[in-house]
Amino acid sequence: MSLTNRILIAMAAGILLGSGFELLLSGADPDTPLVKFINNFLIFGLFDVLGKIFIASLKLLVVPLVLVSLICGMTSLGSSARMGAIAGRTIGLYLLTTAVAVTLGLTGASLIGPGKGLQVDADAAFEPRMPPPLTDVLVNIFPSNPFAAMANGEMLQVIVFALLVGYALTRAGEAGQRIAGWFRDMEVVVMKMVGVMIELAPWGVFALLVKLFATMGFSTIINLAAYFLTLSGLLIFHGLVVYGLLLKLTTGLNPGMLRNKMRRVWAFAFSTASSGATLPITLRTVEKRLGVPKSVAGFAVPLGATVNMDGTAIMQGVATVFIAQVYGIDLTATQLLMVILTATLASIGTAAVPGVGLITLSLVLTQAGLPVEGVALIIGVDRLLDMIRTAVNVTGDATVATIVAYREGQLDETVYADPMADHDMDAGANDNRAPEGAS
Ligand code: ASP
Repeated sequence: MSLTNRILIAMAAGILLGSGFELLLSGADPDTPLVKFINNFLIFGLFDVLGKIFIASLKLLVVPLVLVSLICGMTSLGSSARMGAIAGRTIGLYLLTTAVAVTLGLTGASLIGPGKGLQVDADAAFEPRMPPPLTDVLVNIFPSNPFAAMANGEMLQVIVFALLVGYALTRAGEAGQRIAGWFRDMEVVVMKMVGVMIELAPWGVFALLVKLFATMGFSTIINLAAYFLTLSGLLIFHGLVVYGLLLKLTTGLNPGMLRNKMRRVWAFAFSTASSGATLPITLRTVEKRLGVPKSVAGFAVPLGATVNMDGTAIMQGVATVFIAQVYGIDLTATQLLMVILTATLASIGTAAVPGVGLITLSLVLTQAGLPVEGVALIIGVDRLLDMIRTAVNVTGDATVATIVAYREGQLDETVYADPMADHDMDAGANDNRAPEGAS
């Protein structure tokens, strides 16, 4: 069985077992030995620990991977002239797709009306945590200490530092070439580490999902079914249809191939709910399975994980309309524009970690003059939606990277069209598992 299928089966098994635990435990006497065993030993013991170790090991790879990929990408470009075009196209597409995503969220939710007729929960209390102002975000992109940037996982700062190092290496003659060679070797090593993590993924994904689904609390989802279904429907539509169309229209490539090859990444994004933790897998998939060269992938994917969050943007749109409907407020055209603008800009400054979308939402609501306490209404169902929107977020990064590579004439179309690309890692040394994505 291919590794992707094993990960998907582990996902399904984790969701089933976790939901089974939740059913069993809800309403059960917490003092019975079986309940105690499941709670203390399994859910908050074994599965919690395994899941945390899995996420920590993924995060461990992010900084080294971003640094070496981007430096190698810059040096493989040879001249920095193309870098400007690549950066411009990538950032332009990120902004465009995010704006489309918020608009889709706003329009979809206005048409469907998930908040109409719902009563405001009088007890709803929410302490908004405000993101920093945009000026600080801009200044903070530039590192004053590269080691602090790496130690704190400040991704945009690491990107700026790597770009500078890459640029300098291409200008530093022989010395530069020697160091560049070292980084190329280092990249092979770091990619191997990512391979190890992918091999271990079925276990990690299983542990994470059992714990999550056992503690999720499904009753809140039922209460907010209209919101949940509207948002998840729009997320899936954007992830499959909008990106598919965008890819087809701009490159003529078959979007089905991208979707097939992204399944592994989706499993990681869904179970970790963090584009940041998924980054090593996204990067490896974009380079090795979709055929995007390092020069584009090394820049577009880490940048996208940090600034391009289309799933989160859709959630901003739907949640804003939902909250306005619950509070009986009619949104004016200016407020709608304000939402599009703030949600697009705010997604740049927020980190790629679970639940950050809610913080961005506070900002969007404040800017649009809507009650920030409204966030309390949707917190209960946010975790599962976070998992879905993270999968959309990483799909956006991969799609944009593929489009930019294609438009730059740098996409390896043979790799893109080959369902077996980077399959050897799946298949191990000499076994003959069926090719994934071939179906
Ligand atoms: N968890 C999302 C991500 O990391 C961000 C969010 O919407 O909360 O991409």
